[in-house]
Amino acid sequence: MPIFEFRCNDCDQISTYFSRANDRPETIPCDHCSAKADRIISRPSVRLSMTSKMEKLDPKYDRMVDKAMRSTPEADPDRHLKRLKPLKDS
Ligand SMILES: [Zn+2]
Repeated sequence: MPIFEFRCNDCDQISTYFSRANDRPETIPCDHCSAKADRIISRPSVRLSMTSKMEKLDPKYDRMVDKAMRSTPEADPDRHLKRLKPLKDS
Protein backbone atom coordinates (compact mmCIF):
# COMPACT_ATOMS: atom_id res chain seq x y z
CA MET A 1 0.00 0.00 0.00
CA PRO A 2 1.52 3.33 -1.01
CA ILE A 3 2.28 5.67 1.83
CA PHE A 4 2.40 9.39 1.24
CA GLU A 5 3.72 12.03 3.53
CA PHE A 6 2.42 15.57 3.76
CA ARG A 7 4.02 18.58 5.38
CA CYS A 8 1.72 21.08 6.93
CA ASN A 9 2.00 24.60 5.52
CA ASP A 10 1.16 25.95 8.92
CA CYS A 11 2.79 23.88 11.65
CA ASP A 12 5.40 21.99 9.55
CA GLN A 13 4.35 18.68 11.08
CA ILE A 14 4.41 15.62 8.84
CA SER A 15 1.19 13.72 8.32
CA THR A 16 1.22 10.22 6.88
CA TYR A 17 -1.49 9.03 4.55
CA PHE A 18 -2.03 5.41 3.54
CA SER A 19 -3.32 5.55 0.04
CA ARG A 20 -5.52 3.27 -1.96
CA ALA A 21 -4.32 2.42 -5.43
CA ASN A 22 -5.65 5.36 -7.41
CA ASP A 23 -5.91 7.78 -4.56
CA ARG A 24 -2.97 10.19 -4.60
CA PRO A 25 -4.09 13.47 -3.13
CA GLU A 26 -1.81 16.47 -3.49
CA THR A 27 -2.99 17.96 -0.24
CA ILE A 28 -4.71 16.69 2.88
CA PRO A 29 -5.79 18.40 6.06
CA CYS A 30 -2.95 18.35 8.59
CA ASP A 31 -3.33 15.67 11.26
CA HIS A 32 -2.12 18.11 13.87
CA CYS A 33 -3.85 21.41 13.16
CA SER A 34 -6.13 20.75 10.15
CA ALA A 35 -4.40 23.35 7.98
CA LYS A 36 -3.50 22.39 4.44
CA ALA A 37 -0.61 19.93 4.14
CA ASP A 38 1.13 19.43 0.80
CA ARG A 39 2.41 16.09 -0.36
CA ILE A 40 6.15 15.76 -0.02
CA ILE A 41 8.54 13.27 -1.50
CA SER A 42 8.73 10.61 1.14
CA ARG A 43 12.12 9.50 2.27
CA PRO A 44 11.99 5.74 2.68
CA SER A 45 15.72 5.53 1.90
CA VAL A 46 16.48 7.36 5.11
CA ARG A 47 15.07 4.45 7.04
CA LEU A 48 17.00 1.80 5.15
CA SER A 49 20.09 0.28 6.62
CA MET A 50 23.31 0.70 4.70
CA THR A 51 23.08 -2.94 3.62
CA SER A 52 19.63 -2.44 2.13
CA LYS A 53 20.85 0.67 0.37
CA MET A 54 23.76 -1.21 -1.11
CA GLU A 55 21.43 -3.97 -2.29
CA LYS A 56 19.21 -1.45 -3.98
CA LEU A 57 22.06 0.14 -5.88
CA ASP A 58 22.00 -0.30 -9.59
CA PRO A 59 24.52 -2.95 -10.65
CA LYS A 60 26.17 -0.32 -12.80
CA TYR A 61 27.64 1.13 -9.61
CA ASP A 62 29.27 -2.21 -8.83
CA ARG A 63 30.87 -2.09 -12.25
CA MET A 64 31.97 1.50 -11.68
CA VAL A 65 33.59 0.50 -8.39
CA ASP A 66 35.27 -2.51 -9.99
CA LYS A 67 36.59 -0.35 -12.79
CA ALA A 68 37.85 2.27 -10.35
CA MET A 69 39.57 -0.46 -8.30
CA ARG A 70 41.30 -1.85 -11.36
CA SER A 71 42.66 1.55 -12.34
CA THR A 72 43.70 2.42 -8.79
CA PRO A 73 46.30 -0.06 -7.52
CA GLU A 74 46.28 1.50 -4.04
CA ALA A 75 42.60 0.60 -3.74
CA ASP A 76 43.23 -3.10 -4.28
CA PRO A 77 42.53 -4.79 -0.94
CA ASP A 78 44.88 -7.63 -1.88
CA ARG A 79 47.87 -5.41 -2.55
CA HIS A 80 49.51 -6.17 0.78
CA LEU A 81 49.08 -9.91 0.25
CA LYS A 82 50.62 -9.69 -3.19
CA ARG A 83 53.63 -7.89 -1.73
CA LEU A 84 54.33 -10.63 0.79
CA LYS A 85 57.30 -12.78 -0.08
CA PRO A 86 57.30 -16.44 0.71
CA LEU A 87 59.36 -17.41 3.72
CA LYS A 88 62.68 -18.89 2.81
CA ASP A 89 64.88 -21.19 4.74
CA SER A 90 68.08 -19.42 5.61
ZN1 LIG B 1 -0.48 21.49 10.82
